[in-house]
Amino acid sequence: MDKPPRVLVIGGSIGGLLAANLLHRAGCDVTVFERAEEDLAGRGAGISAHHGLLDIIRRICPEIDQSIGIELSTRICLDRSGRIAHQTELPQFMSAWGRIYRLLKAAFPAARYHFGMQLERVDQDAGSVSAVFADGSHIRGDLLVAADGIRSTVRAQLMPEAQPSYAGYVAWRGIIDECDIPPAVHAEIFERYTFCLPEGTMMQSYPVPGRNDDTRPGHRGYNFVWYRPTDEHLLLPQLCTDTAGRRHGVSIPPPLIRPKFIAELKTTARATLAPQIAGIVERTEVPFFHAIFDLESPRLTHGRVALLGDAAFVARPHVGMGTTKAGLDAQCLTDAITQAGGNIDAALVRYERERWQFGTRIVAQARRLGAYLQAQLKPRAQRSAAELQQRPEVVLREIGSPLVDIRELSINRLT
Ligand SMILES: Cc1cc2nc3c(=O)[nH]c(=O)nc-3n(C[C@H](O)[C@H](O)[C@H](O)COP(=O)(O)OP(=O)(O)OC[C@H]3O[C@@H](n4cnc5c(N)ncnc54)[C@H](O)[C@@H]3O)c2cc1C
Repeated sequence: MDKPPRVLVIGGSIGGLLAANLLHRAGCDVTVFERAEEDLAGRGAGISAHHGLLDIIRRICPEIDQSIGIELSTRICLDRSGRIAHQTELPQFMSAWGRIYRLLKAAFPAARYHFGMQLERVDQDAGSVSAVFADGSHIRGDLLVAADGIRSTVRAQLMPEAQPSYAGYVAWRGIIDECDIPPAVHAEIFERYTFCLPEGTMMQSYPVPGRNDDTRPGHRGYNFVWYRPTDEHLLLPQLCTDTAGRRHGVSIPPPLIRPKFIAELKTTARATLAPQIAGIVERTEVPFFHAIFDLESPRLTHGRVALLGDAAFVARPHVGMGTTKAGLDAQCLTDAITQAGGNIDAALVRYERERWQFGTRIVAQARRLGAYLQAQLKPRAQRSAAELQQRPEVVLREIGSPLVDIRELSINRLT
């Protein structure tokens, strides 16, 4: 590249940091602007990811080792009595949101990462783009990467028609320390990706790095994700209302979730899940939930702007793809710029072509995998046979399956 392109990355979470690190290493002049005032590492819990993400992280941090996560090879489905109803071998890589974030944050020059910078709008002319911030400052670049998440300010300005749509269910989540799991339960489930499929819901649990990102045996964490149908107009608003009666949009800080909902979660766990897994829910001090959304953008580029990660597409978590997709977006954008010799316009044409198709297909696959949960809001009599009962062998094969096994991606195989 004759002159390094000046790249403005909006959003300094995992997607923004993957892009910023790769572009920085490719010789671009990169700056990150994050609206939060301080480190984001307290967010999130366990994540399941694909090996493609590890390959991308190795381009940034060649020295990473096994301690970045936990490899599992076996999946089991437990029935209500706690017996194994189905078992299969399929590799899965588990890590924690904070582990990946801290690694990527440490790898990027601190002087180029700015907290407390809330983007307000984007201005563009033929060959450049300007970011305008809430504090009145603005900065020009050759390319703006919108990695500002599902509620992207950039996308809302440039493609207001693209709105997240609620899938009809929430994911209840929680994490406990490995040492709090009774030894007999630990021996049975800890090193396995474990599912329970009581009618109408789907529970998954797996080990993740523990406190301080520890992956040593005895110091890890154990994470659950329990998908439960939740009506958008009745239960979801109630869940998002605190004890003082204050409504918090479509999410609520975990400590403000009303005790009666936590009690209901634990009672239902005891009544419907395998006892080993109900015990994990029981021991979780602060369960929390995320409402599940789909998001598809009509385009990924607009002039000198590229949408990336959750700002571009959000697939339901059944594909375990959020971080991996953000990494694949970042890798494609970086390679396109490098191979175009720094010609941003040419690179964006390639980025749009390759990543839009991938995003559309992965959202479709995730929708298919979550259709069963969505259907639970219909009266029982109106549900098809497939909507009444999940088959463990299908669920264990398809949830978070490797990229090569995803049916939607194999039509005209994508890279
Ligand atoms: C609890 C949790 C569990 C998850 N589990 C999984 C999993 O198992 N597997 C998986 O692959 N993925 C999972 N994901 C999703 C995954 O974390 C994301 O898909 C991935 O990290 C990419 O996110 P992102 O960086 O694009 O967006 P986000 O993480 O949403 O980041 C957007 C950033 O932009 C900032 N921002 C927003 N607006 C502005 C603005 N106007 N100006 C400046 N900054 C702004 C925000 O503060 C935020 O830091 C999970 C996410 C969460 C939160």
